[in-house]
Amino acid sequence: MAEVAKLDVLAIAAHPDDAEITSGGLLIKMVRMGRKVGILDLARGEMGTYGNAHDRAGEAGAAARIMGLAYRGNAEMPDAGIEFRQENKLKIAQVIRDKKPELVVLPHWAQRHPDHLACSRLGYDACFLAGLAKLPLEGEPHRPRKIIYASYYRNNDYSFLVDIGEVFEQKLRAIAAYESQFGDKSWVDDILSRSAPASQVVEAGRKDVFSPGVHIFDLMYSRSRALGQLVGVTFAEAYTVKEHMLIDDPLKMPVRSI
Ligand SMILES: [Zn+2]
Repeated sequence: MAEVAKLDVLAIAAHPDDAEITSGGLLIKMVRMGRKVGILDLARGEMGTYGNAHDRAGEAGAAARIMGLAYRGNAEMPDAGIEFRQENKLKIAQVIRDKKPELVVLPHWAQRHPDHLACSRLGYDACFLAGLAKLPLEGEPHRPRKIIYASYYRNNDYSFLVDIGEVFEQKLRAIAAYESQFGDKSWVDDILSRSAPASQVVEAGRKDVFSPGVHIFDLMYSRSRALGQLVGVTFAEAYTVKEHMLIDDPLKMPVRSI
């Protein structure tokens, strides 16, 4: 991947595959719009049940190529031990200064995994700190203009949804790059054709990394469909913003009535 000096969009996630699962559709859409898009993973996922740091690094690179990313970095924080402290904020802030994204995508703060919550909070603070001139960071101060929070399927306070129908297959193929986590890639074809009931797919020996019996196959299909049905499209991802939106003409808002 040819690294660029400046990104338009940076997604920050705790583990490799988090960003693909929760915001891969939006990131791919923005790549297709000509935006420079990157992902910063905070840890290598070495504490996961399956795979090891080396395998997961290779898989993260493969997923990045499938998505067309301009950058993928890893802050090398300890997996299952990402802490909300200044040193970690500054690590992220340095990447924000280096890559100068205008938009940052963070995990929503409703989380079960402590790393995900820490990532959400660290990323928010890092966006602010990166703009402070006197902090011990290299490069020019930079503060992203916009922060949005990707749903990790534990919240329903969505501010907007993104139609990911056109990029759904590409998103699934990026997730399927993580073979150590999700088994062989044939589940992508299953999900696209819905030719096999999910129970058969799980029984075929593929791995459950979420709750028992919940394969990524089912999660991606059912969540994306359910979110899409809220706005009348086939597949969607959900995002939340903290700030209020300043509107002049509500008739120009891209809101569908269904
Ligand atoms: Zn994760």
